[in-house]
Formats: sequence, structure tokens, C-alpha cells
Amino acid sequence: MTSIRRCFSFTFYETNGEQGAIETITTASAMQAQAQTLRNQGKRIVLVPTMGFLHEGHLSLMRLGLAHADALVVSIFVNPTQFGPGEDLEAYPRDFDRDLALCRDEGAAVVFAPQPEEIYPAGFQTHVDLESLPKHLCGKSRPVHFRGVATVVTKLFNIVSPHMAVFGEKDFQQLTVIRRMVRDLNLPVGILGGPTFREADGLAMSSRNAYLTPAQRPAALSLIQSLHLAREMAANGETDARRIVEAATGMINAHPEARIDYVAVCNPQTLEDLTRLDGPARMFLAVRVGRARLIDNMAIN
Ligand code: AMP
Repeated sequence: MTSIRRCFSFTFYETNGEQGAIETITTASAMQAQAQTLRNQGKRIVLVPTMGFLHEGHLSLMRLGLAHADALVVSIFVNPTQFGPGEDLEAYPRDFDRDLALCRDEGAAVVFAPQPEEIYPAGFQTHVDLESLPKHLCGKSRPVHFRGVATVVTKLFNIVSPHMAVFGEKDFQQLTVIRRMVRDLNLPVGILGGPTFREADGLAMSSRNAYLTPAQRPAALSLIQSLHLAREMAANGETDARRIVEAATGMINAHPEARIDYVAVCNPQTLEDLTRLDGPARMFLAVRVGRARLIDNMAIN
């Protein structure tokens, strides 16, 4: 029995009287063909990889990318290999129609939205793994996460052939892993990091913020508050990283709903823990609040 698969389509939307088209592509081969056409036309392709359920943080990366792009490609793919057993793969929020409309409104040319079987066909067994960066921070409690990220991003680069790709500093460890992987593997893709986009109250935007109830908001805000406290301590001359970590930990633990995964002050390049602030230092946090695992980070000196 044969089945007909829709591998690409054009969707027309009307918003504020304007009309435009965005191409939706679902197969790797159709995306590779489209990328080749764009390159043959001399167009500069910029990729913004996402897992969808788009928010202003994603849109800010698209705007950054558009400044460098003739053709902006947004990928929407909830990548199963970066979720460990018991994580929220099934529950991860999804709203493809809304995402598509947002990408179209931002001026993206293509949305690449494959199904998992397209990216990981039966028999798949090749992964990209980094030696030490994934062992720190989120990698301690999510041991397969960065292998999944590095693998899917490599595949997306091979499928979309972007000249440049944009990633958020919100996931600073991910950005660091990708920059390292691109250097190590001579991947011909420029990597651009975009600043963390925040809600008005300071909470870093995240698709997982949808899990938070209003009552959990104060606990969620303890992340940005403790980052500000760390930065203030460093500005006032504190050089003992342990004291800064203790103060931030105390501030978060004042909220019984918050469960700390880690609070760390690290070298922003190696992601190794620092004991003294005698060079660039960044604080990294991962905290569970209800069903949400929230992460945030900030340069503190
Ligand atoms: P995700 O859909 O969560 O995998 O994120 C896709 C991209 O958006 C990643 O490069 C993230 O780092 C980035 N991103 C997520 N949240 C934010 C934010 N609040 N500000 C800027 N970039 C973000």
C-alpha cells in the first residue's frame, strides 16, 4: 500500500490587510532541494532552530537573523533525542498553526517542520557527542540532552545548509556546545547568539513557562532576582564564588515551591565551576517550579 505524503505546501494568511506566503516543508529531501535553489539564486540562508510554541524570545532571534538573511528558515521540531526518560516530551506544548502564522508575520520564507521519523528513520545510529562541555550544568541531570541537541543541530545544518544560525543565550550551555561543535567539525555555518528576552517582570521567556500557575510565579521570579543579587555582590567587590552561590541559593530556597537543580558560577567558555571571580564569570541556574524546569543565566562581572 502506498501513501501520499505532503512534503511541502504554501500557506496564505491575511493579517492587517497584508497578504504573504510562507512555505512549509516537512521532508529533508524537499528542504535540501529548496536550500540548493536558494543558494543557486545567491541567497543567504539564516536558520533559527526551535521546538515551536513560539514566544517573543524566538521572534527576537528571527528578527536578529533577518538582519543577515535573504531567506529566513525557522525549524519547528520537538526533538525526541534531547529528552531523557521521564521528561516532558509528550507534554511539551505545541501549536503549529499559531507558530506558522507568527513565522509568516516575522517574514520567514520557510518553516521546516519534519516528523520525528523523518529525522530519525528506523535504524538510526549516528550521534554527535562532545567530550566535556555536556558534563557540566544541565548535562549532570540531563545526561543525553546535549548529545541529542548536537545531533539534531548537525542534521539541521546538513538539511537546511544555512550560512548562519541563531541561538539564544537563554540556553547558554547549548550555545557554547554548538559553537564548539561548529569549530571542531569545521561546519561552514556562522553562529549568532541572541540575548535572553524576558517578560516584563524579568522571567526569561520559555515555552515551558506555560506550565506555571499564577501562584508559582513568585518562585519562578527568584531566578532573575538571584542573578541580580549575584551581579550586585560581584559589583560590590565579592570575589568568593561560593559566597555568591550561597546567597543566590538562599534567595531561591526561600520559596518552598522551588527545587534547585543547580546554582553555579562558571567560566563562560569552559563552563567549569569558579572558586574566585578573577576573570569573566557567569551565573547559571536550573530550578524546578511545579512541572516546569526553569533555567536562566547572566554574566555577573
Ligand atoms: P526552544 O524552542 O526552547 O528549543 O528554543 C529555540 C531557540 O530559542 C534556542 O536557541 C533558545 O535558546 C532560544 N530561546 C528560548 N527562549 C529564549 C528567550 N527567552 N530569549 C531568547 N532566546 C530564547
